[in-house]
Amino acid sequence: MAWAWFKRLFSVPTDDADLLRAQFEAFCKQMPLLYFILSANSLIVSYTFAAMAPAWLSVYLPLALCLVCVNRAAWWWQRRNRAIDDAQILSSLRRTNRVAPALAICFTFWGLSLYQYGDAYAQGQVAFYMALTVIGCIFCLMHLRSAALSVTLLVNIPYILFFFFEGHATLKAIAVNLALVCAAMVNILVIYYRDFANLVVSRRALIDKQAETQSLSDENFRLANLDSLSGLPNRRWFFAHLRQHFEGALARSAPFAIGVIDLDGFKPVNDIYGHATGDLLLQEVGRRLEDLCRASGPLKDVRIARLGGDEFAVLVPDDPGEAGLQALGESITHALGVPFVLGTVTTRIGGSAGFARYPESGDTPDILFERADYALYFAKRQKRGGTVMFNAAHEAQIRKDSIIDKALLAANLKAEMSLRFQPIIDMTNGQVRAFEALARWESPTLGTVAPSVFITAAERNGLIGDVTRHLLGLALIELGKWPQDVHLSFNLSARDLASSEMLIHLIAMINQSGLSPARLDFEITETAMVQDFAQASAGFTALKALGVGISLDDFGTGYSSLTHLHRLAFDTLKIDQSFIGDITDNPASLKIVKSLTALCADMGLKSVVEGVETEAQFTTLRGLGCHLAQGYYFARPMLAEEIHAYLGQTNAHVPWAATGRR
Ligand code: C2E
Ligand code: MG
Ligand code: MG
Repeated sequence: MAWAWFKRLFSVPTDDADLLRAQFEAFCKQMPLLYFILSANSLIVSYTFAAMAPAWLSVYLPLALCLVCVNRAAWWWQRRNRAIDDAQILSSLRRTNRVAPALAICFTFWGLSLYQYGDAYAQGQVAFYMALTVIGCIFCLMHLRSAALSVTLLVNIPYILFFFFEGHATLKAIAVNLALVCAAMVNILVIYYRDFANLVVSRRALIDKQAETQSLSDENFRLANLDSLSGLPNRRWFFAHLRQHFEGALARSAPFAIGVIDLDGFKPVNDIYGHATGDLLLQEVGRRLEDLCRASGPLKDVRIARLGGDEFAVLVPDDPGEAGLQALGESITHALGVPFVLGTVTTRIGGSAGFARYPESGDTPDILFERADYALYFAKRQKRGGTVMFNAAHEAQIRKDSIIDKALLAANLKAEMSLRFQPIIDMTNGQVRAFEALARWESPTLGTVAPSVFITAAERNGLIGDVTRHLLGLALIELGKWPQDVHLSFNLSARDLASSEMLIHLIAMINQSGLSPARLDFEITETAMVQDFAQASAGFTALKALGVGISLDDFGTGYSSLTHLHRLAFDTLKIDQSFIGDITDNPASLKIVKSLTALCADMGLKSVVEGVETEAQFTTLRGLGCHLAQGYYFARPMLAEEIHAYLGQTNAHVPWAATGRR
């Protein structure tokens, strides 16, 4: 037990590699200093004794010992800042543990041997040299307790005994002084060494803690940048990466491109088969897109992210040019067009893509993204399932839009926006069934702006609610002036239907007007259903509960989905004017209108044909059994003040029954 303790005290600890490394690093700095003190002090003593003692003792032996010191000092000096493994560290510390006592014995022997040759002063110098040097050495060896202790004992015991028994009272006193100082130093040494070892342990614990914190924060970072559903990088990752890539591209003047992809037909899958199937579909889309990127060739470095919902984005680090991007877009849309097998469900969707290139399309990450999104918007509207590159025409359109946006944001709705009313005629008896309210904007700066333009702008700028409220207010005032059997048809934006706050307003306005809701029809397009069926359906139900009629407007232009007709209880279907324009020359249009009219009759829906302009169209439509119609043939949209006179013309609303009014 005591032997084990003693052995441990005088050997290099092997159980802690970090402690050994810390000791080694400290020694690399301190050992050259130790050897310098030892050599310099010894050479000074050697110089003093050169004339007094034999040459082998005063010159050759110290020189030989100093050469060993220089050699060791150089060895340590060279190990500074050098990569060294644990085994080498242990062996060099063990060597120090052997070399230090050996040198201590040699120098002690040398010092004490010289003593007898000196006069009183020189002897004093030896006593002073040995005491001072050993303190310096203990100090430098502090990080290796075993070496420091052995040097302390091997120098001090002979020293103290020698000078104590040497006889001279002064030297005895010096021996006692040194014994006291060394006892204090050993005590300090033991404490310092223990603190040093503890410091290494706590530093390691700190490093471990830091590594653990780092790995936790790395994991959090990874999760924060990951879309948990698809496993793809998420929106945050995409924008951070886009910004980072942009900085690099800016510095290198290197072009790159981004794309935004939106699934076509995802919402119906979600609505019909439920969210679980929708999730499976998104996961499969993610897999397909990722597989595409893993493929070799031009897509190799493309990174895909899911921005949210059914929207994905691609970052193309090296712009492959317009043709390359077009090809990339096509491979993506092609991959999305292949049917998906999701458990027991097999479904087909598509995808549209918009691309923007740096620096042509935009010179900041945000503008670039906006442009890609704009190109996607175009793809969705005009080239569904295709790929659109942001181009100069889009740029011009953005400028035009921004002029409209500015004017609209500054507009005084009450003064600038008004309504025209276009009659909807019952073709069987020529009576006016209703008037459709059509918005007009006379901007003081831009002049007349088409409703298709400013309604879109109002939707874009979040002003549609104000516009709708203002116009419905005007329309309800007019409805109150009309005969009871004349209805009002009022166009609602998809956004109106999606906002519960707006619906509450509309319902309140209708209730406050005191008019029968049955005299009111809201026209909505399919866009509203497609954007968010659940929300649109809730709005739809709320309006129906009030007792108003609801028409599906412009049927045949957009999605023309019978699903919507089937799932929501529409009252009227408005057949788009695009079929009427060529109904007399195009058998396909004729067949479509015929089928739609028959379908409406079968489903118990009213149908209105829009855009009747000529007598030939009118005659054809009447022949098909169409019931209600609207168009310039009957009347153009008119001012509210003109309605009274218009209605007053007996039997004048259809030319065949008229006394000549057109
Ligand atoms: P819409 O609801 O389908 O309205 C019918 C459009 O066809 C009107 O265009 C009307 O002037 C036009 N029209 C009627 N008969 C004929 C015809 O015989 N030939 C031709 N070529 N056109 C005819 P307008 O007034 O320019 O409105 C365009 C669209 O703007 C509307 O289409 C509707 O979607 C939207 N809109 C108009 N007013 C409002 C409104 O108050 N609120 C909302 N949300 N949208 C509105
Ligand atoms: Mg309409
Ligand atoms: Mg219409």
